[in-house]
Amino acid sequence: MTAIWSVDTEVFYQNAVKVRNEQSIMAVVKNNAYHYGLEFSVKEFLKAGIQTFSTTSLKEAIRVREIAPHATIFLMNAVYEFDTVREYEIHMTLPSLTYYYEHKEDLRNIHVHLEFENLLHRSGFKDLEELHEVLEDHAQNKSDNKMIISGIWTHFGYADEFDVPEYDIERQAWLNVLNTLLDEGYSFDMIHAQNSASFYREGQVVLPHHTHARVGIALYGSRPYSKLKESEIQQSLTVKGNVIQVREVNAGDYCGYSFAYEATKNQTQLAVVDIGYGDGILKSRAQHEAMINGKRYPIRALMMSHMFVEVDNEVHAQDEVVLYNNDIRIDEFTFKGVGANSEQLSAMNHDSLIKEYI
Ligand SMILES: *Cc1c(COP(=O)(O)O)cnc(C)c1O
Repeated sequence: MTAIWSVDTEVFYQNAVKVRNEQSIMAVVKNNAYHYGLEFSVKEFLKAGIQTFSTTSLKEAIRVREIAPHATIFLMNAVYEFDTVREYEIHMTLPSLTYYYEHKEDLRNIHVHLEFENLLHRSGFKDLEELHEVLEDHAQNKSDNKMIISGIWTHFGYADEFDVPEYDIERQAWLNVLNTLLDEGYSFDMIHAQNSASFYREGQVVLPHHTHARVGIALYGSRPYSKLKESEIQQSLTVKGNVIQVREVNAGDYCGYSFAYEATKNQTQLAVVDIGYGDGILKSRAQHEAMINGKRYPIRALMMSHMFVEVDNEVHAQDEVVLYNNDIRIDEFTFKGVGANSEQLSAMNHDSLIKEYI
């Protein structure tokens, strides 16, 4: 028996169809498609009618090109391997005036999307003035081999926050910039801003004048914020271990390393389970429950390749112990403060867990 990480292919696909909602989606596939597997995810997204992909690493962008020869691929980080970007026909962000002036020539024939910085302050042009500067300099450049301005975009950093005004502020700042440029007669083949939270906040539709929503986590089966109903988004991932044995301990017995857990009553039933932090179960996740035979039981101690779960007489050796599935979901623990959806997903150890697509 070994702990398993498995994805139900049909559920993954059906969820992608439902999230897409017949809108034009750019699927974010960074970090090995949120660790669901780049090749698997891109193929399922293509089946679901998604033809545009976005990632942060050139290496992944190249792999997407190999899997999806006709797709539009957008690289969200600027890189310096200009020949490779050209060779694989990858669209790339234009992150600043400095980068533009330094690499104007290097960027020849490369499709760039102008990035508007906004409240996240991670990258991008600061304001309309900077955007005008690059647009005007580009218009005056009479070279036959200059970069190609194909898009404009921004990233919202506050779309999953509801109690503060920041989302409305960043949304309005972006729409002002975009609408001014469109009113001035500039046009862009691709305009994209919304992550999953913003896509759902706007009614699961793409914002006016935008060509795509740039969606990640919802496509991978987790809700970006808790106001959404669970039934809106389905989790295809299961992470589970097995009961190795059930042991009885008495009040005052310490279990696990360094007094990890002290039994408070006699005849406490403790299941020893073959999954631990070495497999990627976060310490904060172990403050909560695991599911055995459809019932939730408290985790009492977390070790590298084991955990203790306090059980009752209905639990036996070899029973499955579910840490995550669609009934005990990653997003539930996100909202309980365990860590972001992507953080829990990223913690999983794909070398120690058996990986299955069913
Ligand atoms: C990760 C990322 C997204 C997707 O965000 P989700 O919340 O997972 O939908 C979109 N845009 C950028 C720039 C990102 O880095």
